[in-house]
Amino acid sequence: MLISIHGPNLATQFHGQFIAHAADCSDNGRVKCHSGRQSQPFTVDVESREQCALEIYEDQLQGGECDLETALADIHFCPCCRELG
Ligand SMILES: [Zn+2]
Repeated sequence: MLISIHGPNLATQFHGQFIAHAADCSDNGRVKCHSGRQSQPFTVDVESREQCALEIYEDQLQGGECDLETALADIHFCPCCRELG
């Protein structure tokens, strides 16, 4: 499914540096950057949360700077992403 990823530098980072919404979720327009401006997400086409983490953290994961568990913990998947399991 198409997922819009917001972050880093979001106004609220209670659940990690990134927030994931379904690309067609109306909440995408409500995510704010640290600057107060509306966040401009990037969209990925993924089938799982793991794939989503790979899209964001590809370099760090390949370089061994972080593991998949750490990467996943840094992404808040909103309920609209439930198709990802
Ligand atoms: Zn959403």
